Amino acid sequence: MANRETRAVKVGGVIIGGGFPVSVQTMWKEPLAAGEAARAAALRRIGSLKELGCDILRFAVPDLASAEALGELARESPMPLVADIHFDWRIALRCLDYPLAKIRLNPGNIGARYKVEEVVAKARGKGVPIRIGVNGGSLPEDLRGRPDRAAAIVEAAEREIAIFDELGFGDVIVSMKSSDAAETLAINRAFASRHGIALHLGVTEAGPLVQGVARNAAALVPLLSEGIGETIRVSLSDSMENEVLAGREILSCAGLGRGGVKLISCPRCGRASFDTHAFTARWANRLYALGADATIAVMGCVVNGPGEGRHADLGITGAGDKVVIFRKGEIARTIRPEEADTVFEEELNKL
Ligand code: SF4
Repeated sequence: MANRETRAVKVGGVIIGGGFPVSVQTMWKEPLAAGEAARAAALRRIGSLKELGCDILRFAVPDLASAEALGELARESPMPLVADIHFDWRIALRCLDYPLAKIRLNPGNIGARYKVEEVVAKARGKGVPIRIGVNGGSLPEDLRGRPDRAAAIVEAAEREIAIFDELGFGDVIVSMKSSDAAETLAINRAFASRHGIALHLGVTEAGPLVQGVARNAAALVPLLSEGIGETIRVSLSDSMENEVLAGREILSCAGLGRGGVKLISCPRCGRASFDTHAFTARWANRLYALGADATIAVMGCVVNGPGEGRHADLGITGAGDKVVIFRKGEIARTIRPEEADTVFEEELNKL
């Protein structure tokens, strides 16, 4: 499962490709607001995304005001920020006045050659890489309707790469996205067999949480297991936090997990005397943000609770009208259900 050889690209403090760990990204879902209060709120959210395992965060930048708001945010961000730009090269130039870590831009939709040259010259001068992003839904006119759509998407990306090649700009990452898992596999396998350029993987417009995670996992786990893909973004019609957690779990399924908390929770059934759904909903993000290498079990009853969670470093389970906290299969405390959160927190602090 050795990674194919790719050129390393520095994105702020994160390196994509070159055998470095696969990074997890998400994308900001709101318009960028200017002003100190908005910036402080954004920085708090960025901090919590980082705790959950997000490495890189991208923002849509539709106008110059957004470029400036993002630029100010980048000055204080604890994580590399990326500007996603379409059509207007002046927005890219403005972004490059700030410490942004990467630009996502397709030279083919910027227009006149001199505009692309200006952006490339400034990016080169600042050491900022550019991601080319080709989507199946926005192929050039002459490539639309080709019977082999995967090949058409790869060709569209190669045309964009060729523009950068002519300018001698190699600090490039490529994404080629489709909303179909099988097509995503075909596209990225074909590209990886021909190029040593780092790949940003993801299934686009993948749908709501459940469907989106399934479609992304169906494509990304096999690719990552084959050593294809240097950074991932799981697109969901859901929160950034869930995109990050899904990305983490996909890496783990591909054997590329980075440690951290492994949460085991039972699906709940008629035997449950403890609401595992509500408890995991309350605790999951806090647990994932811990950064500790620990297995934590949340079980509904004693029929399977301590047994199935035997290896857990810490577990909680319903036991009749009581709740039991256990460690490595041994009962540590027996408590009342209303004490569950408080006592669980105390025991968690001992980990
Ligand atoms: S642990 Fe108990 S409540 Fe949970 S699914 Fe298994 S039998 Fe049902």
